[in-house]
Amino acid sequence: MGDLDRALSEELAARRESGLLRRLPQPVTAYTDADAGEHQGARSRVSLGTNDYLGLSRHPEVIAAAQNAVAIYGTGATGSRLTSGNLAVHSDIEAALADFKGTEAALVFPTGYQAAIGTIGALVGPGDLLVSDALNHACLIDGCRLSGATIRVFAHNDAHHARRLLAGRRAFRRCLIVTEGLFSMDGDLAQLAGLAALREEFGCWLMVDDAHGTGVLGDGGVGACAAAGIRADVQMGTLSKALGSSGGFIAGSRTLVEHLVGAARSFLFTTGLPPASAAAASAALCVLRREPERVEAMRRIATKLRKEFVRAGLNVLPGHSPIIPILIGDPLRASAVAAQLDPKYQVAAIRPPTVPAGTSRLRVTATSLLEDADIEEIVEHFRLVVSRVQPA
Ligand SMILES: *Cc1c(COP(=O)(O)O)cnc(C)c1O
Repeated sequence: MGDLDRALSEELAARRESGLLRRLPQPVTAYTDADAGEHQGARSRVSLGTNDYLGLSRHPEVIAAAQNAVAIYGTGATGSRLTSGNLAVHSDIEAALADFKGTEAALVFPTGYQAAIGTIGALVGPGDLLVSDALNHACLIDGCRLSGATIRVFAHNDAHHARRLLAGRRAFRRCLIVTEGLFSMDGDLAQLAGLAALREEFGCWLMVDDAHGTGVLGDGGVGACAAAGIRADVQMGTLSKALGSSGGFIAGSRTLVEHLVGAARSFLFTTGLPPASAAAASAALCVLRREPERVEAMRRIATKLRKEFVRAGLNVLPGHSPIIPILIGDPLRASAVAAQLDPKYQVAAIRPPTVPAGTSRLRVTATSLLEDADIEEIVEHFRLVVSRVQPA
C-alpha cells in the first residue's frame, strides 16, 4: 500500500468508527418498472429524498426541451460564456428567471454551488464584513471563506444576534448579510423581515440563497423573498431542485449581473451551463407558471405527511415546508436507520458536518408526485424501522 493510501485508510477507518463515513448509495437504474429494461431488480421508486419537489425532472415537456437543445447545440456549451459558450438558451432562461423573480436581470452558473462561491467573492473581500447564519449551506460558508472578508456567524435565525454582530459595522467598508431562504436541512424559513430591517439600519446588502424556496414558497412558488414581502439585493437559486434540471442562478439588478459576468471567478473560468440543462429549466419554469396547482399539491401532501409522522411519534422538526427532518441524534443510529429503510424511498442519513453534532437525521422530502394512498405505508414503515433501531 502506498503512503497516500495508508494515510487515507486511517482517516476512513476513523470516520467509519464514528459513524461519519460517507459512501455512495446503490445507483438508481430506473425510476419505473417500465423503464427498468435489462436492469433486473429495479423497482418503482417513491423517492422521499429528492429535491425534485414538483416532479419536473421527468416531465415530458422538460425532457423534450432538453432533447431539442441537444439536437440544436450539442451536448456541451464548448467554452466559457465569455468565449464560445454563450448560447441563446442561456439568455432565454435568464430572461425567464428575471421575470419570474421580478428582478431586472438574472445570470446562470453551471451549479448553485458555483453561483454562491463566485458571487460572494465578487461582492466582498478583505476589509469587508460578512454576517452569516450558522446553518447556512456549505456553498455559502465556502463562498464566505474564499472571499477573504471578515466573517461573523449568528445563531440560526436569530436576527437579534445578527444585530449585535453588526455593532462593529462601521469599521468595515461593505457588509453583506447572507442567509438561506428555506433552510435545506431544517426545512424552516429565514426571518427575512428581521434581516431586511438590519440591512436598512446598518447599510448592508442582503443575499438570500433560495435554492429550496424557488418553486416551493410564495404564490406560484416565486420564492422566500416574495413570500416574506422583502427585497433582497442578491437572490440566489438553483435550477437543480424544484426546476428539476441543473445549474444555479443569481437574480437582481442589471448592474449586479453586469458586475458578476466579469468578476465572479466561478462564472468566468468555467464552461457555460450545458444547453440541455438551460432548456430543461426554461421548460420547467413554463410548466410551473402554467400549472401553479403543482405547488399546491406538493404543499398539501407535505402537510399531511408531516402530520402523520408526528402522529406516529417520530421526532419531526417543526415547520411548514416539504422538507421534513426526522431527528435521530446519533450518527451511527441515523446510519443504521437509513440502512434499514426500504431503498425505494432513497432516504439518506444526514450527519455532521452537513448538520451540527448530535442532530443527525433522516431528511424526508414531500413532492407533488406523492399520493395520499402512499402515506400510510410510508409512515408505518418509518415508525417500525426507527423503533427497531435502538440508540447505541
Ligand atoms: C443544493 C443547494 C445549493 C447548491 O445547488 P447546486 O445547484 O446543487 O450546486 C446551494 N444552496 C443550498 C441552500 C442548497 O440546498
